[in-house]
Amino acid sequence: MKAIQVTRHGGPEVMEYTDVPDPVPGPGQVLVAVDVAGINYIDTYYREGLYHSAPPFVPGSEGTGRVVEDPAGQIAPGTVVAWCSAPGSYAEKVVVDADRLVAVPQDIPQHVAATMLLQGMTAHYLVNGVYPLAAGDSCLITAGAGGVGLLATQLAAHRGVRVFSVVSTKEKEELAYEAGATEVFTYSENLAETVRRRNGGRGVDVVYDGVGRDTFGESLEAVRPRGTVCLFGAASGPVEPFDPQLLNTHGSIFLTRPSLGAYTADADEFRMRAQAITQAIVDGTLNVRVGGVYPLADAARAHRDLQERRTTGSLVLEVTESE
Ligand code: NDP
Repeated sequence: MKAIQVTRHGGPEVMEYTDVPDPVPGPGQVLVAVDVAGINYIDTYYREGLYHSAPPFVPGSEGTGRVVEDPAGQIAPGTVVAWCSAPGSYAEKVVVDADRLVAVPQDIPQHVAATMLLQGMTAHYLVNGVYPLAAGDSCLITAGAGGVGLLATQLAAHRGVRVFSVVSTKEKEELAYEAGATEVFTYSENLAETVRRRNGGRGVDVVYDGVGRDTFGESLEAVRPRGTVCLFGAASGPVEPFDPQLLNTHGSIFLTRPSLGAYTADADEFRMRAQAITQAIVDGTLNVRVGGVYPLADAARAHRDLQERRTTGSLVLEVTESE
């Protein structure tokens, strides 16, 4: 089958469009033909070797497609499914754990189905699990016009939360406002000061920081005493080691570095989050903006665009040409 293969760790150029053997389902797994794969920032960490990955490997973990074979005979061939935890999804076929497959409602377009789960469930656990937001709370979201950023903004705003969003360009600013942000800032401003000025002199209840190295210091400054800093990504690079005493000097604040895996480890919790996201998309309360569509063979260009901050919303790779 055709697939993208990472032959050594490095920049986008290490991803080759090539032929690899078809994967074979193991116990509890289902073979799926991929129609569209989702692209996530985490795919770049595996490509670079920041997260453990031994080349050669096929990157990607998310997508939508049709079941080819369920050796257990539970899922009919041809069933349209989506998934987000299947390594090797930048390919024509992938094997997925049966209990991590989600049936795609007919109303959800294919491109949306390909990218809704990983970023959608992340946004869901950030605003419901890490720091359960309630009406009247305030939060700061970095990379506010990115995949996770736009979804978390919508979920928080629907709840009556004051959302402060940080973005790098005018176009991204408009998208963040459309998603429901109360105020949108750029990184050049003194974030902590600006946030306090617009938030009645207080820090925010929670910061959701997916940018990491470049914003982490400001995140600690921007939160209120006893508030929560949720460092959930490293788009600008990993945060340097630091002295925990800093959490004291900022007012007994809480710091967490969560993962989607830990917030969906239990199959029931996974289903609950997946259903909440698919339902919100079907009933129109959550809009997944697909900001970029690339052919599978152009995965390297997609990664370049993502890491050079040229993208908005979510990105997908078309594996087959149907839609
Ligand atoms: P995005 O679509 O948000 O893309 C990353 C964005 O980060 C860019 O568009 C850019 O927005 C911003 N950014 C700021 N500084 C930099 C920089 N130096 N280089 C590159 N980008 C930068 O990606 P995702 O939605 O896929 O992921 C967002 C973050 O969430 C990532 O850090 C990812 O690892 C993390 N994540 C964590 C999960 C978890 O469970 N812990 C799960 C899913 C994602 P701008 O130009 O506006 O600054």
